[in-house]
Amino acid sequence: LLAYSDSSPLKRVLVTDATHSDGQQIRKKKVVVLGSGWSGYSFLNYLNNPNYDVQVVSPRNFFLFTPLLPSVTNGTVEARSIVEPIRGLMRKKGFEYKEAECVKIDASNKKIHCRSKDGSSLKGTTEFDMDYDILVIAVGAKPNTFNTPGVEEHAHFLKEADDALKIRKSVIDCFERASLPDLNEEERKKILHFVVVGGGPTGVEFSAELHDFLVEDVAKIYPKVQEFTRITLLEAGDHILNMFDKRITAFAEEKFQRDGIDLKTGSMVVGVTADEISTKERETGKIVSEPYGMVVWSTGIGSRPVIRDFMQQIGQGQRRVLATDEWLRVEGCDSVYALGDTATINQRRVMEDIAEIFSKADKGKTGTLNKKEFNGVVKDICQRYPQVELYLKKKKLRNIANLLKSANGEDTEVDIENFKQALSEVDSQMKNLPPTAQVASQQGKYLAKCFNRMEKCEEKPEGPLRFRGEGRHRFQPFRYRHFGSFAPLGGEQTAAELPGDWVSIGHSTQWLWYSVYASKLVSWRTRMLVVSDWARRFVFGRDSSS
Ligand code: FAD
Ligand code: MG
Ligand code: MG
Ligand code: MG
Ligand code: MG
Repeated sequence: LLAYSDSSPLKRVLVTDATHSDGQQIRKKKVVVLGSGWSGYSFLNYLNNPNYDVQVVSPRNFFLFTPLLPSVTNGTVEARSIVEPIRGLMRKKGFEYKEAECVKIDASNKKIHCRSKDGSSLKGTTEFDMDYDILVIAVGAKPNTFNTPGVEEHAHFLKEADDALKIRKSVIDCFERASLPDLNEEERKKILHFVVVGGGPTGVEFSAELHDFLVEDVAKIYPKVQEFTRITLLEAGDHILNMFDKRITAFAEEKFQRDGIDLKTGSMVVGVTADEISTKERETGKIVSEPYGMVVWSTGIGSRPVIRDFMQQIGQGQRRVLATDEWLRVEGCDSVYALGDTATINQRRVMEDIAEIFSKADKGKTGTLNKKEFNGVVKDICQRYPQVELYLKKKKLRNIANLLKSANGEDTEVDIENFKQALSEVDSQMKNLPPTAQVASQQGKYLAKCFNRMEKCEEKPEGPLRFRGEGRHRFQPFRYRHFGSFAPLGGEQTAAELPGDWVSIGHSTQWLWYSVYASKLVSWRTRMLVVSDWARRFVFGRDSSS
């Protein structure tokens, strides 16, 4: 309902390819996109508007298919198979790409400051400034260490392709090291103690992949040291996979137990040194230190420094994550959009707008809503406030009318008090979208579609409240559609939680997982590479060179 007013950034950037009467070309609006990950790539892929001059800045010149990254750590899938170079897309679309990192956003001057990567063969960096008319921030997030001492220095992260390759090399190095002569049992045990911190989907999947590698390959390749290996999974909360259905959590915990993965819940890591990892046990408050060979840190994500600095500039310094409205416009700043893991949508509450909604719906200004008036706004309310739909689903009601009926008996007119009461609980259903590829890619697609229709945005100003039928063109707020989530658990078993409370666990789900991910891969080239990696693994086992 809060749609675009005349002063909306979308309206102001409206451009046409028009030429002046003297034949001079009007400058195209410059859209600068930061990032080539799930949200950025999806945005670029769906953007088809010749009226923009599109410039992409990202420190990596490829898109990375992150769901298969854990499989790279043990060589099930090759890193090359899950990256898609972005130069191809750039050429096809006529966009320009610069391999650099944005290190500063200067929102008041509409400029960004960039720095090239310090490559291994090219020493030193190059710095440059770029200006923009519209900025699309899709830089993702960074691993969150919660400032735990020693993590940055001693632990591995699993976020980028390089990370997965480093982990893979490091695992194999541990086995080679432990196989050297003149080590005592204690030392071999230390070197072969693999610690995973964080029981979210990534930590769990990595533990499972590592376990598969130990059981299926290491046993054959390093038979002498196999008995010394141990995997510990540390989780600060009570359960692993706590964002999943309880049945999945229980299945995963049992499976890990059977597999011999040492799962320690309620233990929070307080420090990592070169040789030891220390945890505080929640129940006893005791601090325990254990020697390790390798630590992988996977406890969630935090904002990148460049985003923190930007938030400070635009008055969002107090927030944890950059906030946008439902159209993905950064709050407190013009012409800047943010999507994916970088930002969260600051969803509006129905209760904040309830008086406005009511008076807008009350066409006859009678102070009550009759059935017709009411029906005129139902669709818009559901569209504008996704929590209404979630609430109805939860209450198993078909539409808002039923909600009102339950508050107010049959078909009588409702006054504002009834109206308020009926909707009083819907805001309790608001929750932030998860930081997933699914959300990021849908947001990229959504924003590209808005940009594609920018010119069609009508001239007529839209008030703060807008209902169906007032003007032909308008941008709907972003709506997320959840297609389900997977949690691969190793041993060719996967758990899936699909829409409609459908939980499925086991070997057949693993095949569903294979086919879903093969189909989600962005190109036929990567699809073929991944499928042949899987086949190669089935036939020959994993490669163990580091
Ligand atoms: P990213 O995809 O991280 O992209 C960020 C981009 O910005 C990158 O190209 C980066 O190089 C670039 N960048 C960084 N800093 C700058 C800068 N300063 N200037 C310019 N560019 C910059 N989600 C699922 O839905 N399903 C899964 O199975 C799943 N598995 C995952 C497994 C792993 C191991 C990981 C790490 C994540 C997984 N995710 C999964 C989550 C998913 O990858 C993220 O939610 C998604 O990548 C977010 O997309 P994004 O575009 O916000 O960020
Ligand atoms: Mg991105
Ligand atoms: Mg990515
Ligand atoms: Mg987000
Ligand atoms: Mg009325």
